[in-house]
Amino acid sequence: MRADLFSFLKRALLASGLALVAACASAEDPRTFDHTTAAARVGALDGAASRIRADVAYLADDAMEGREAGTRGYDAAADYVAARMAALGLAPGADGDWFQAVPLREATSSPDASRLSVTTADGERVDLAFLDDFKIYPSLEKDAFAVSAPAVFVGHGIYAPEAGHNDYEGLDINGKVVVRFAGAPDVFDSEARAHYGSSAAKAKYMASQGAVAVVSLYTDAAEKSFPWKRVRRNPIARATRWVGPDGAADVAGAGLNGTIGLNPDSSEILFEGGPRSYGELRAEEARPGGALKGFDLPVTVSVSAAAAFDDYFSDNVVGVIEGADPALKNEALVVTAHLDHLGIDEGDLGGEDDIINNGAMDNAMGVAMLLETARRFLDGPPPARTVVFLAGTAEEKGLLGADYFAHFPPLGDKEIVANVNLDMPVMLHAFTDIIAFGAERSTLGSIVEAALADAGVVVSPDPFPELGVFTRSDHYPFVEQGVPAIFLWPGYANGGEAVISAFLAKHYHNVSDDLSLPIRWNDAARFADINYKIAREIADRPERPAWNKGDFFGELFAGE
Ligand SMILES: [Zn+2]
Repeated sequence: MRADLFSFLKRALLASGLALVAACASAEDPRTFDHTTAAARVGALDGAASRIRADVAYLADDAMEGREAGTRGYDAAADYVAARMAALGLAPGADGDWFQAVPLREATSSPDASRLSVTTADGERVDLAFLDDFKIYPSLEKDAFAVSAPAVFVGHGIYAPEAGHNDYEGLDINGKVVVRFAGAPDVFDSEARAHYGSSAAKAKYMASQGAVAVVSLYTDAAEKSFPWKRVRRNPIARATRWVGPDGAADVAGAGLNGTIGLNPDSSEILFEGGPRSYGELRAEEARPGGALKGFDLPVTVSVSAAAAFDDYFSDNVVGVIEGADPALKNEALVVTAHLDHLGIDEGDLGGEDDIINNGAMDNAMGVAMLLETARRFLDGPPPARTVVFLAGTAEEKGLLGADYFAHFPPLGDKEIVANVNLDMPVMLHAFTDIIAFGAERSTLGSIVEAALADAGVVVSPDPFPELGVFTRSDHYPFVEQGVPAIFLWPGYANGGEAVISAFLAKHYHNVSDDLSLPIRWNDAARFADINYKIAREIADRPERPAWNKGDFFGELFAGE
């Protein structure tokens, strides 16, 4: 699961009045956790539970070195998953191969080459200081750039005429440096906010209008969740994208050279001599119902930067069960679980011995459940539709393996009609409900209900709809291609909220997400069973999954 999700979840939990600290205190400390007691408590494991445990134990072993995409640890994990798929009886699913090689490009910024200066209306040139005042996030297009251009303020920088909102009205951004706030205003509801507030959606529009660089301004909310002191901790900025057949990295906003992050304490200079100050605009941004109007800034911004590019491949692992229905077999359900994780910690580790991010829950657990789901399919009659099992790479670097797969599906004539995603199903309580993010958006909702009618769990609504969780894991690249999708998570009933919150606070994206956690293997087997029932219903139901009429994402990406 991607890093930005946690800050959202944490904020939601705080907002919902749950005291995180109290939740943590009541949770088991894995460092003092006794494995013998754990074994006794979970009792005997049935076949599915012991298979899941074996897969998680293998994938989360120190020998996998944290499975970072592009490392030997990841490659070893990919080999293991392909071997397991073969042993189960799946067919290779990437145009006859187990592996779809995903070409990736990583840019690493060069702090020494980062320069930013502002020339004010009266001709005074002010050089800003790297890290004290600014940081530059490299583009994956050019390994060096230098631009000098007049600046224009565009509010949040949102172009959404279909929602009656256009921050660029009356402004010309061609050839200019665009200055905008992070995020989106509260006039948008949850999902629209997540989509329009994303840097990628903004960059795409800005680039299409000829902007040459972006300056991102802090809002009150952004400063709370990621203060400048955290930005300046690391002088290096990294970005990774997949590379298309034309050799170009898939960047949102081709032509925009890079994004400049500005320290809020250093942001006023851009507005000097203009009609409104940064302070006034930021206060307006924070005001409920606040409205921002853009204007030309009386300054010229000069920026230059360089980055080193590293090109490499990392494999998606793909297995398939061919559909049995002659009419439906060309429709594919894709079941996803990302295989990669964060690798080995670098830098100042404060004397910590454990530096391996094992990712037992994130997402060895999801991959183990994906394999168990495949086994269940192979045990039963062949599905009507084709079912594809994708253990994807580079999710932690930006949903890249799934996005590449969704752009270039190695499935011949088959069309992807639905996606079910497993990402970090936290198996630390006897769950009695599940959350199916996105279920209410498409006919997958009624399919989930039907599939689970006798499963002994209830489907709970998204506990934090305002956070746009739906845009933050591997199902979203499929949604962007117009494919209805759901993302399954254990529910918050029966103690789930406290135990999942504690996991997020202490172990998520931490070296302690490992086998020392009191993982409930029999519950993991139940969750895999639920995943199977849902996938089976989608695969066998005569009607093709469809977006609900008027759904935001359906309209945006599938034109429905
Ligand atoms: Zn993660």
